[in-house]
Parts: sequence; C-alpha cells; structure tokens
Amino acid sequence: MKRKVNEMNTIDAALVLVDISGYTRFVNFHSVSQVHAEEIITQLLEAVIDAAEFPLVLNKLEGDAVFLYTNASAGPHDRVAKDVLNQVNGLFSAFRAKQNELIDGGRNGCPCDACENIDTLKLKAILHFGNVVVKQIRQFTELAGNEVILIHRLLKNSVGMPEYMLITDAFLKLSSVPKGWAGQAVTEKYDDLAEVTGQAFPVQYGAPVAERKATLMPREVVGKVDRKLWWAQLPKRLFGKRAFKNLPG
Ligand SMILES: [Zn+2]
Repeated sequence: MKRKVNEMNTIDAALVLVDISGYTRFVNFHSVSQVHAEEIITQLLEAVIDAAEFPLVLNKLEGDAVFLYTNASAGPHDRVAKDVLNQVNGLFSAFRAKQNELIDGGRNGCPCDACENIDTLKLKAILHFGNVVVKQIRQFTELAGNEVILIHRLLKNSVGMPEYMLITDAFLKLSSVPKGWAGQAVTEKYDDLAEVTGQAFPVQYGAPVAERKATLMPREVVGKVDRKLWWAQLPKRLFGKRAFKNLPG
C-alpha cells in the first residue's frame, strides 16, 4: 500500500527515554561552570546516541534526556524488545566509558563545579512498549499518544536508586531480563493516565546478554577497563584532584 508523506498512522514501538541527572543541585553555577556543564552533558549524550544502532533510532533530544524508539515492524515484538534491552545495556556502558574519559582527561584541570563533579552524573533509562501515533512534520518524525506521555511521566517516579533501568510490564511481557538481575516492583499513577506497573533494576555494567555483541561490553572487557582506570585514578585518590590540575591531560 502506498502511504502519503503527511499521513498519520500508528505503530507498535519499543520506547526508550534515557536521562542524565546530577547537576541540578548546583544552583549557583556561574557562567564558566554553566558552559562546562553543557559541554559535559553534550559529550555524554553524544556517547549515548552514538552507541545506539539501527533499528533503535534517535527521535529527539530533550534537554538532558534522549528519546529513542524501535519500530516494532522491524521484527517480531519479542525480538525487538530483546534487542532494545541489549542496546540500552550498552548505552550505560558507553555513558560510563565517556564519563571516565572526561574525568581522566583534560577536564580535571578545571576547578569549576561542573568539571569537578562529573562523577556525580547519573544515567537512568525508562523502557516501555506500546502503540504510538507517528506524525511526519517536514523532516521530523514526531511520536505522540498516551504511551509517549506515559514514558515521559515515568521520569518522575518512586524508584530510589541512583542509576537504574525502569522497565514497564508491557515491555517485560516481551523480553525478560538476564538471569541474576534483581528487580524492584514499581507502581506509579499519574492523574490522567491508567496505573502503570513495572520493575526497576540497578544498572549492571557488563551484564551478559547474547545476540548483539557489538553494542555490549562483555564482562572481561569491562573488568580490564576498570582495572586500567583504577591505576590511572590512583594518584588522584591518594593526593586529591587539585594537586594534579596543572598537569597536561
Ligand atoms: Zn570547568
């Protein structure tokens, strides 16, 4: 069937909202810090976006968050959900790798609040699955409907963990999580929407999932990276960051 360019239609889709938090409490950022904070967030968001592979595509940048989705017509729903879960796992690895790179790199020469507190930045991801309206406006694909509203509301939730994946039951019905992931049951209710249930999982770097090896860091690789970082950061731990701020990156 031929489809007109401006026609609205609905698709089943896996939805992913990835959000960086941690800087908001520094209300007194002066201008240098503000610029550096934006630079740091931008680099981290870019690392996350770069790690996402088709059919998981970027839909929109939303401040410190990224909205991605996979059109479920890319395959059977359960395969789509599994791929998305694997990929989101990889996004966390990409985020952490870039964060460590920024901490170890030239930035730690800068004594501003933003550069000195990169380690306080945290990543969380919301995963949901549902039917959404697709609107084509010029070159932009806009996703709309209740499920899109819901996943955004879920950013404000009762999960108490610093870094986590919050996965709705609609998504979990299609893809189970890897063995060993211990979830915390979550129930949220937002005024105009039906109650939503799901599970929150603390982030497990290098958690083993099959199929999409390219975007997932196997446990051994993560181990190696971490050991290297441990040694690289040792002087800082012993003598503090400021003692090294005049050394070249
Ligand atoms: Zn700075």
